[in-house]
Amino acid sequence: MSEIVNTFEAQQQGRPTGPLVHGYEVIIGFETHAQLSTASKIFSRASTAFGAEPNTQACAVDLALPGTLPVMNKGAVERAIEFGLAVNSHIAERSIFARKNYFYPDLPKGYQISQFEIPVVQGGAVEFFLETGKGAELAREKKAVRLVRAHLEEDAGKSLHEDFIGQTGIDLNRAGTPLLEIVTEPDMRSSTEAVAYAKELHKIVTWIGICDGNMQEGSFRCDANVSVRKPGQPLGKRREIKNLNSFKFMQQAIDYEVRWQIEQIEDGHAIEQATVLFNPDTGETRAMRTKEDAADYRYFPDPDLPPLCISEQWIEQVRGLMAELPRVMAERFVRDYGLSEYDATQLTQSQALAKYFEIATQICGQAKLAANWVLGEVSAFINKRDIAIDDVEVPNPVALGEVLKRIAIGEINGGGAKTAFQQLCNQQFDGVADLATYILHVDKIIQDHDLKQMNDSGALETIVEEVIAANAKNVAEFKAGNEKALNALVGQIMKASKGKANPQQVNDLLRSKLA
Ligand code: ADP
Ligand code: MG
Repeated sequence: MSEIVNTFEAQQQGRPTGPLVHGYEVIIGFETHAQLSTASKIFSRASTAFGAEPNTQACAVDLALPGTLPVMNKGAVERAIEFGLAVNSHIAERSIFARKNYFYPDLPKGYQISQFEIPVVQGGAVEFFLETGKGAELAREKKAVRLVRAHLEEDAGKSLHEDFIGQTGIDLNRAGTPLLEIVTEPDMRSSTEAVAYAKELHKIVTWIGICDGNMQEGSFRCDANVSVRKPGQPLGKRREIKNLNSFKFMQQAIDYEVRWQIEQIEDGHAIEQATVLFNPDTGETRAMRTKEDAADYRYFPDPDLPPLCISEQWIEQVRGLMAELPRVMAERFVRDYGLSEYDATQLTQSQALAKYFEIATQICGQAKLAANWVLGEVSAFINKRDIAIDDVEVPNPVALGEVLKRIAIGEINGGGAKTAFQQLCNQQFDGVADLATYILHVDKIIQDHDLKQMNDSGALETIVEEVIAANAKNVAEFKAGNEKALNALVGQIMKASKGKANPQQVNDLLRSKLA
């Protein structure tokens, strides 16, 4: 595996940092709408609950009926502050709400309240690891996608094209639902990188709890702006793929769009700026409308809302109530546990996974061992069953920690621990058992499955000598300098000991006898 490369600098200097597609560089910028998890709407008291009967949750304020006035939801502002703090942004001390004017059936009021010139969250970056290639070609690069801004706005209603007595219906329940629109610089260079960014962003908003992250229900939807260019050329015209609500579709849509744009250019057609939709059934993108420019929306400050003022004290108060952030936790894992930056990042994919790792570490006292097991055996188990780390089927981290402790003190070896882990997976406890129970339980598994490592060096020596005597060919090869021949001998000895020898002891003994 190659080393971790930080490509941020190259990116800032405008050098291509992603794979070229038929000689073209792919440029991607994201606009993501994260629905904020407040109980009520951004400017009214109506409920934001999902799935209610159509048009039962839109109140007069959401529809901007004459005589109503919007009032800012404090919880929505606090969530925007939390996001800004999570991605190292500047929180504006004074930001402005603006009216974005356009006509659409799901927007009977004729304008959307959003932020235009002065958004509440400015700058910042989302950092993540990008994996490319497989096997020996596997490379991990550290990427940083810069954010331009994140602003507060209200959602519009929804057109129901299906299931409405053969016509299109309008459901205004969603009108006024609080959104945070998060806009990146055009920093991404491949569909894989775009998906990695979106996953990281999804992790951040769900980790800090400002958004439930439910993509099917539309709580987290991404618009991907895509263009292509020959390296060194100015940015090409972009097309914006709207409302991608699954990571799989995101990848498919961008890949299709890139191929389509390159074909157009190669055929001598210019790309026109447009808004397109992805059709998951055909795997194609299709132009929906030519893209408006900001000027078309006739933005102006909303006269009904005062400027949004955020004091330093308020920011600090919000900061004080926030849980440890994933990147801060990852830094702590590197510092306190001596883990690699990559492992630390993997272990902080979710709060539940990080917690699982920390409990197992606490019990066994060896963070690296625990990290290897959580990212190896445990992750393989949950992936295979397609379950979450906090599912009841997953062995309790205290039990895993107890098994790992037995490796640490030399009672069992890695192979024995795997057997013990399998046993833990097969046996579930009702409710949560305590450490004392797990100690007894692990004792019993070790006994029942005869997993105790061979610690009698006399017996081991006999086996080693027998194996050396019976494998003259491997011995000769090793003496001639073939290191791999030693592995074959180790394998024979492990087998002869029924997997119970200590691999390190076997190695040491073999080397000293063959020296
Ligand atoms: P608008 O306000 O019209 O949506 P912006 O300039 O704010 O346009 O850009 C919207 C998004 O498009 C941003 O995420 C930005 O990074 C991205 N973007 C801008 N230019 C390009 C381009 N040439 N190729 C790909 N993405 C782009
Ligand atoms: Mg936009």
